[in-house]
Amino acid sequence: MKIHHLNCGTLCPLCARLINGKGTWTEAGKLICHCLLIEQDNKLILVDTGLGLADIQQADHRLGKSFQKTFKPKLDINETAHHQLQGLGYSPADVTDIFPTHLDLDHIGGLTDFPQVTVHIYQPELEQILNPRLKEKLRFRLNQFNPKPKWKIYQQPTEQWYGLSAFSIPLENNLNIWMIPLIGHTKGHVGIAIQQDHGKWLLHCGDAYYHHSQLEVVSRMPLGLNIFEKSVQSIRRE
Ligand SMILES: [Zn+2]
Repeated sequence: MKIHHLNCGTLCPLCARLINGKGTWTEAGKLICHCLLIEQDNKLILVDTGLGLADIQQADHRLGKSFQKTFKPKLDINETAHHQLQGLGYSPADVTDIFPTHLDLDHIGGLTDFPQVTVHIYQPELEQILNPRLKEKLRFRLNQFNPKPKWKIYQQPTEQWYGLSAFSIPLENNLNIWMIPLIGHTKGHVGIAIQQDHGKWLLHCGDAYYHHSQLEVVSRMPLGLNIFEKSVQSIRRE
């Protein structure tokens, strides 16, 4: 098995100091769209897709103007998963499955670049775009789901992964991969856990947390990032 960590979209919002906690007040910040490309038995799997070809080519239509104004995406076609996997010597036709952690625009823009694949999704996440309320219509970019992906929907987890309710996902290539609901950021946000060859697990947490220091006893998350994280939470801890 090979796991590639890809940045499939660089965002450059105002003020590095507030977003990254370093740099100056006038310098642009840097956020990335962290995706995983997993190769096993000559098949490819993606965890998140970042921005896709159509997002770059029709940014106003797909991403909207307010996102572009706030986050200033680089819109570099070479950062798309579609281009990067070819650069690694693979073919887009070899991608069989995609696991989005959630449906925010910077995580699923590349779905339309792989129309043949199965897209694994937790039902409460999909519900937000199938029957969106006003808040969800403003948050999710419904234009990005046209043409409609080949969804495989997961309803209620009945298994456990290290004490967390989870779905084990049966795949043809025998990858040991689990979908673990980590809700809050969105209503059906999930983490994706992959067991690597040496037995250790890799858990892609999507936007379940925004800053590495949130895993420590005292978070040192920069103020701007902190405010933004709270402003987009769908379900807050009571
Ligand atoms: Zn998000």
